Amino acid sequence: MIDLAIIGAGTTGISTAIEAKNLGIQKIVLFEKGDSHSMTIRKFYKDGKRVDKDYKGQEVTLEGSIDFQDGNKESTLELFESLITSHQLDLRLHTDIEKVEKKDNGFEITSSGGETFMARFAVIAIGKMGQPNKPSYPIPLPIRSLVNFNANSVKSDEKLLIVGGGNSAVEYAYDLCKTNPTTLNYRRTEFARINDTNAEELQKVIASGELQTKLGVDIVGLSNEDGKVGVEFTDGEKIIYDRVIYAIGGATPLDFLQKCKLELDDSQTPKSSEIYETSITGLFIAGDIALSSGGSIAIGLNHGYKIAQEIAKRLKL
Ligand SMILES: Cc1cc2nc3c(=O)[nH]c(=O)nc-3n(C[C@H](O)[C@H](O)[C@H](O)COP(=O)(O)OP(=O)(O)OC[C@H]3O[C@@H](n4cnc5c(N)ncnc54)[C@H](O)[C@@H]3O)c2cc1C
Repeated sequence: MIDLAIIGAGTTGISTAIEAKNLGIQKIVLFEKGDSHSMTIRKFYKDGKRVDKDYKGQEVTLEGSIDFQDGNKESTLELFESLITSHQLDLRLHTDIEKVEKKDNGFEITSSGGETFMARFAVIAIGKMGQPNKPSYPIPLPIRSLVNFNANSVKSDEKLLIVGGGNSAVEYAYDLCKTNPTTLNYRRTEFARINDTNAEELQKVIASGELQTKLGVDIVGLSNEDGKVGVEFTDGEKIIYDRVIYAIGGATPLDFLQKCKLELDDSQTPKSSEIYETSITGLFIAGDIALSSGGSIAIGLNHGYKIAQEIAKRLKL
């Protein structure tokens, strides 16, 4: 019997485990489907990306023990790597959890490989980036490899279209335009959701002519143009790109939540109390997946701290 099972070894899951360990909780297991921890950072942050503690202007006072500060992708991964090592966390990689079910004596946790584990308490911290949002129109099969949801496959000099109006899209755009002919497409004309630093960087590259923009227009559809991506816009223009990157956020993994029998609200977010306990006693939800929108590393760290305190209290530690 595990005392505390944590599903997802992103920054929230890791923080929950660290805080729980600090409070004396003994048997903690961290399940991660990827081949390492912090898969969202590894997959979706460009190398060298600046990482802001107060992401999107959301000022957070850290409550727990983790000294997370502004840095970059590499320093952030290093911080969480060193925390896992120094706290000797039991991290089970390549373990894709399919569901968490309440049983008489705790929770049964089932992996897609058919393994089961029993735990007294469980925390779901699976984030939302396992399923990046996709456009509503079809992506023709021959060009699927050229239509991406992160910047990992970009080759130098490829003509790129970045789609989106949030911080991720803007960060991709102002970085990639230094190495590639790049256009940023957003359906609105104003970037209302980005932080001040990104707004400044964006202005610079637009003013210098390094970044092209196509604002206030949407995309109608994509076509295969001799192995390149044809993009048709609502203004009637059709432009051919080598690669298109959608940075339009992530979707709640509904399947998982339904299999766990969690009650959801109108925005498909699991209902939870002020201590992040779901509609099922002893089952907590933390980090991006606990929120209808927004979320940041620091917010997830505080969720982990609060949940660990509550579980330690219930275990009478
Ligand atoms: C491009 C981009 C830039 C960003 N920049 C910043 C920034 O500068 N500062 C900031 O504070 N925030 C930033 N964010 C937001 C930040 O990354 C998230 O808020 C944070 O990662 C949320 O942490 P989490 O642990 O809740 O979820 P995640 O980081 O998404 O971690 C979830 C983990 O769970 C694993 N998992 C998923 N499903 C399962 C399953 N079924 N079984 C087992 N494991 C599973 C995943 O592989 C992953 O490792 C950015 C996000 C993006 C996409």
